Amino acid sequence: VINFSAGPATLPLAVLEQVQAELLDWRGSGMSVMEMSHRDKEFMSIAHEAEQDLREIMNIPAHYKVLFMQGGATAQFSFVPMNLLRGKTSADYVLTGDWGKKAAKEAGRYGKVNIAASSEADRYTYIPDPATWKLDPNAAYVHITPNETIHGVEFHIEPDTGDVPLVADMSSNILSRPIDVTRYGLIYAGAQKNIGPAGLTIVIVREDLIGQAAAGTPGIFDYKQMADNESMLNTPPCFAWYVAGLVFKWIKQQGGLGVIAERNARKAALLYDYLDSQSFYRNPVKKAHRSRMNVPFTLANPELDADFLKGAKAAGLSGLKGHRSVGGMRASLYNAMTLEGVQALVDYMKEFARTRG
Ligand code: PLP
Repeated sequence: VINFSAGPATLPLAVLEQVQAELLDWRGSGMSVMEMSHRDKEFMSIAHEAEQDLREIMNIPAHYKVLFMQGGATAQFSFVPMNLLRGKTSADYVLTGDWGKKAAKEAGRYGKVNIAASSEADRYTYIPDPATWKLDPNAAYVHITPNETIHGVEFHIEPDTGDVPLVADMSSNILSRPIDVTRYGLIYAGAQKNIGPAGLTIVIVREDLIGQAAAGTPGIFDYKQMADNESMLNTPPCFAWYVAGLVFKWIKQQGGLGVIAERNARKAALLYDYLDSQSFYRNPVKKAHRSRMNVPFTLANPELDADFLKGAKAAGLSGLKGHRSVGGMRASLYNAMTLEGVQALVDYMKEFARTRG
């Protein structure tokens, strides 16, 4: 089956095979990683190596902490304001889709939220020009969602917010291309798209921003306490951490994020070029802001949606139903999706349009 699900998403086959080979006995330890104490040297080596590999592939400077947390990106919607408001009264949010809107709503429980820009009135089909954002120079941080998974809208620039730290929910495009980590104060991502199994959340945070969590913040939600305890204040999601480590190794073996980015660009171009070449299917997003990870599209006649999905399933193409809030279809093309997989989708779409158009 070729899995186009938006998440949890497909993992590289080589990684799944390695997990299978090591499942019952991790490298002669006589134990599965699932059974190991997180304090034992075997698991500590897995954990450290994963962090080192992530630092290497993303080029994360030493003055950034890397945290392996739980609760998904949704928990970060709260942890970010709890930790980063730092006595300030407000934070700026740029809304380019439903996830950013949810993050802003949650932050509103902890402080004042200023919507610096939003494309909601145009159904999140573009990124408002950063020159028009109404930023507050006294804001604690500026929050963006560099890839909006539901709407298929992606930043292809890294906005400059001056001295105000930029916070990014990179759940659905982390590790899809090289980025300059130093442009961000904090990056967070749920693992279940480009990193590994659900249950793990990665946080990359500039050291000087932590240690000022709001009074009442539970220790387990406090970035400083997590950093001081190497993400092992309590039992971490050990197995997910291990699989993430294998994915990081896989990225290194592929040649790093530059190679991954080229591959992702080719995959996305294959599908968008087809979408733009005909009128049976349509993608509503402004071309310059289209996502390489999630490609939503609608059929000219929505009455054919169910047939399209049924035929796709029969052809081994799964997970194509669009998010319930926007309908239509969505093809997610995360790192583990192959060019052949995208070609199979385009072939199916052409055939469906030819016979039903
Ligand atoms: N943010 C983005 C951009 C997402 O795509 C998702 C889930 O798909 C979330 C947040 C929510 O993530 P989680 O389910 O890990 O809480």
